[in-house]
Amino acid sequence: SYKQMLRTEKLTALGRLSAGLAHEIRNPLTSIKVLFQTFRDNPSLTKEDMEVVLSAAEQMDDLLTRFLRFARSDEFSLSDVYINSIIKHIIKLTEFQIKERSIDLSIKLSKIPPIKADRAMLQQAILNLVLNAIEAMPDGGTLSISSKIENGNAAINIADTGKGIPEGIRDKIFDPFFTTKADGTGLGLSIVYNIVNLHNGDINFESNGEGTVFTLKVPIKTHE
Ligand code: ADP
Ligand code: MG
Repeated sequence: SYKQMLRTEKLTALGRLSAGLAHEIRNPLTSIKVLFQTFRDNPSLTKEDMEVVLSAAEQMDDLLTRFLRFARSDEFSLSDVYINSIIKHIIKLTEFQIKERSIDLSIKLSKIPPIKADRAMLQQAILNLVLNAIEAMPDGGTLSISSKIENGNAAINIADTGKGIPEGIRDKIFDPFFTTKADGTGLGLSIVYNIVNLHNGDINFESNGEGTVFTLKVPIKTHE
């Protein structure tokens, strides 16, 4: 059944995510260990040291919360989801960053029937793509978001006029923890990839020196 299949794919996705999670947890854990080892030898932790420990612990807590939220969403809450309403919501969420960078916004939405999907997950996926597009245009540009029906799929295009994705990294961008940003997590696109897979959808991109277009497709028909 569809649900059965979702579960199998989810397990695969979880496997990949846990490998990543273990890796991410090691950094804050190491800083806690180092500080406490120092403390054992010389019990003079300062307030700043304690802040480091606290923020490392918070970082791990945060990672685990996000991980568990995904792991627990066992039977996916599938409901009738309007893609265009998700897009409008995301525009509100990112309004500030868009204005701050003087990015022009172009929105073209076609009428799309509701699709069976997990609303929160789809929103997360599209948001991650929009955030990447915004981050690709630090000095402004145009963010174009469109939706249409294509061969029984709801197709969402997210295009930016940033500097594009260099050829040498194109096969790595969906890998967990791959990032070219100083403060990136490299988790955005791997999450998008997993969410799209779980919905039986498809994610593609085209990129050149003038920008990047990501296309996310999700089947409109319900699967029982
Ligand atoms: P992060 O945003 O934390 O770096 P992601 O998984 O979202 O992690 O993206 C991985 C990498 O893919 C980015 O660091 C960037 O190099 C590249 N990338 C993703 N989207 C775009 C885009 N729209 N334009 C240019 N590069 C992009
Ligand atoms: Mg990102």
